[in-house]
Order: sequence, then structure tokens, then C-alpha cells
Amino acid sequence: MSENKQLKYEKKTVYEKAGAKIVASAYEYAKDYVKFLDAAKTEREAVTECVRMAEAAGYRPYQFGDPLKAGDKLYYNNRGKNIFLFRIGSESINNGIRITAAHIDSPRLDLKQVPIYEESGMCFFKTHYYGGIRKYQWLATPLALHGVVVKQDGSVINLTVGENESDPVMYITDLLPHLAAKEAGKTVREAFQAEKLNILIGSRPLDGEEKDSIKMGVLSYLYETYGITEEDFLSAELSLVPAARARDVGFDRSMICGYGHDDRVCAYPSITAIIDADESVHTTMCLLVDKEETGSDGVTGMQSSLITDIITEIAKALGGNEATVRANSKCLSSDVSATYDPNFSDVYEQRNSCLIGCGVSMCKFTGSGGKGGTSDASAELVAWVRRCLNEAGVVWQTCELGKVDAGGGGTVAKYMANHNIDTIDMGVGVLSMHAPYEVISKVDLYEAYRAFRAFYNFE
Ligand code: MN
Ligand code: MN
Repeated sequence: MSENKQLKYEKKTVYEKAGAKIVASAYEYAKDYVKFLDAAKTEREAVTECVRMAEAAGYRPYQFGDPLKAGDKLYYNNRGKNIFLFRIGSESINNGIRITAAHIDSPRLDLKQVPIYEESGMCFFKTHYYGGIRKYQWLATPLALHGVVVKQDGSVINLTVGENESDPVMYITDLLPHLAAKEAGKTVREAFQAEKLNILIGSRPLDGEEKDSIKMGVLSYLYETYGITEEDFLSAELSLVPAARARDVGFDRSMICGYGHDDRVCAYPSITAIIDADESVHTTMCLLVDKEETGSDGVTGMQSSLITDIITEIAKALGGNEATVRANSKCLSSDVSATYDPNFSDVYEQRNSCLIGCGVSMCKFTGSGGKGGTSDASAELVAWVRRCLNEAGVVWQTCELGKVDAGGGGTVAKYMANHNIDTIDMGVGVLSMHAPYEVISKVDLYEAYRAFRAFYNFE
């Protein structure tokens, strides 16, 4: 009977398979993750946190052309929005680099460049949403303003408003149900429109002003407090994110609700795993990128040539061949997957879905339709990953996003794979993905950390 049982592939939970000690460790690990989530709500803040973590672990800044030797631990801070950590291993660089790649941008509302206006006794910010959001989720909830204003002279003013208890928060109004008779019959797309995602920021007129007196009140506050004028918003990157903090979910505290699990829930285990994998003989790299939610374009996105520039520089400094290094490298594209949700079971195919508590999730391919827009990892790579995770006792599962033709989504995997680097998606399942508050399981988070550590060390 027991032999027969091994004939079948069955998913099991971390609770069943890994035992109480691992579960206890997962709960402990999650405490620091929650702190990271609250400290790093934007890609810039995530890079700041990661630099702090890297430096505390002995990593130092790298510049192109620096000499390299085994044991060196370095980081490259790309414009404050994207960071590479790497550690030089003792084996030949031509054996390749072990890379994990996660993203640190999350869906949010960005301010337009000319954002401030006054109407009907109220002052507002105009916004332009960033990434895939369900617009109604951002109404009638406290929002915080995060970002930078860069003055013409290049000086940078960092703004964070709405995170401290004493701070004001910002808010998007919603229609009262009493007057929503017509609205209730509309489709979600018709009812919630991007140009209505306007942020309420004031209602008190400035004494002595006749025209735009409320806007003038806001502008004079901004000038007195931060030294910024309306024109300074032209060269600003300011975003609205949920103001609340990450919290445990459930009586058993087995889950965490927070903003931006996608993809900090993979970025955090990636960076902690590389920091903790000092014993690896391989050259290891953890790469945290920006702009994934909008297509990975630009100088701080995964499609930037910076990844190949850095690999070329590493190969050169260690006397290796750049093409050989890439051909022998392996990458885990560490991004979230969609946890099966019984409340929306019609869009999932349960056998091939990520199940909560069943460990880290491996996606052989992402994309949509007939495997469009995916690098689709090879069976050989999957077999290698199987062996790696099983030998390390990691609890893991395989998944697709949802039902075929129900929709789709991509990650940075294909951009990495296009550089001739074997890449597969591996990450943590998320409920309510892209909502202001997403939910993850603590044991799944911890298995991601254990998987990444195993990957950095294996063979
Ligand atoms: Mn993601
Ligand atoms: Mn996403």
C-alpha cells in the first residue's frame, strides 16, 4: 500500500510534510518580513532597505571595472530603484552564476505631472495608475504619499506622508449607496474610471486669497513644509499607496495581509537567502528590479542591458568568457503566483493551481493563451530544480496562473531567458493579487527562502 502511494503525485502542506520546527521558524522569519514590507512600499524604499541589509552583511558598493576575487560580496545600486547583490564563489566563473530575480515595484497610483486642482471647495491630486489595478479597491480607504521631488538644481526631497499616526492621510471619495441606483447597473469598467481616481488633499481656503484659495492653501503648506512649488511636481515621482501596515491574518496567525506582497514576498526571501548562503562555491546573484508591473522596460527594468553589462564585467574581471558564463548560469525568476481561491473557483483549474500552505510554487511557464509570451522552462531544468528542492527537503508545488484562456500574466523570466540563461519561475502564492492588501501564507514565504538557499548552494 505504501509503495503504491508513491506512484501517485500528491501535493501536501508544509504543516504535514515539514513539521512543527519548520512552521515555528516560518512564523519567526515572517516577523522581519513584515517590518520589511512596512519599510519598503516603493521600489526606492526597497532599494534603501536592501542596501542597509547588504551592508550589514558585509556587501560593499561595486563599480564597473573593479577587480574581483573569490569571497567578494558586492552590490550595485542602479539609480536607487534597482539593485544587484553578488558574491564571488570559489569555483570557476565559467561554471555560471546562480541568480534569483524578483521585482520591487508594485501596483499603485502615481501623481500626474500637473496634479493639483481645486473644484467645489475641495483640492485634489490627479493620478495615473501604475500596473494592473481593480480601480474600485482604491476608493474610500486611507492612502499615503511616498516618493521624491527633484528640484531643478538636482536636490532631492523625500516625501512620506500618511505613515505615522500623527500624519494626515489622503483619500479617494466613493459614491454613497443611496444615490448609486444607476451606477449599480454599470459594468465595473464603466463605473470606475481612471480619471475619477482623484485624491482629496484639502478643503480650507487660504486667508486673503480670492481665486483658487484652497489650492493656494495647499501650495503654501507644501512650500512652507518642504520648500516645493507647483512647478516642482513636473520633476517628481510621487505615488499613493495604502496607508495601513502589514498585519497577521487569521486566528492561527498563519497568513499576512499587506501592501505589495507582489513581489516583496519573493524579493525578501531572495535577498535574505543570498546573504545567508555565504558557504556556496558558486558565484551567486540576487537581482531586484523595477518596472515589472508595467512591462519591465526602461533603465531600471529587467529589459535593461544592465544585467548583461554586469555579467560581462564579472566574467572579464575573473578571466572567464561572458557567453560561457551566461550559458552555464541558472536563474529563478522569483515572482508570485495566484493562490487558488474557492470564492472564485471558476477561473482556476484546481489540480494545476497554487494551493495555500503547500509551499513555494514553481511555474514552468507564464504568459497567456497558447503559451504566448513565455520562455517555458525546459524539462531538463525542471528536473534539476526537482532534485535540488527534494534533496533539501523543501516543500514545493507546481502551478499555472489559472484556467487556460481565463487571462494571463508574465514575469521577468522571459527577459532573463532571452540572454541564454536557463530560467524558471519560483515564488509565493498570493490571494487578492494586486489589491491594496494582498494575503500570503507564512509557511509558503519560508519555503521560498529555503528554496532559494538550496538553489544557491546546490551542485
Ligand atoms: Mn509580480
Ligand atoms: Mn504583479
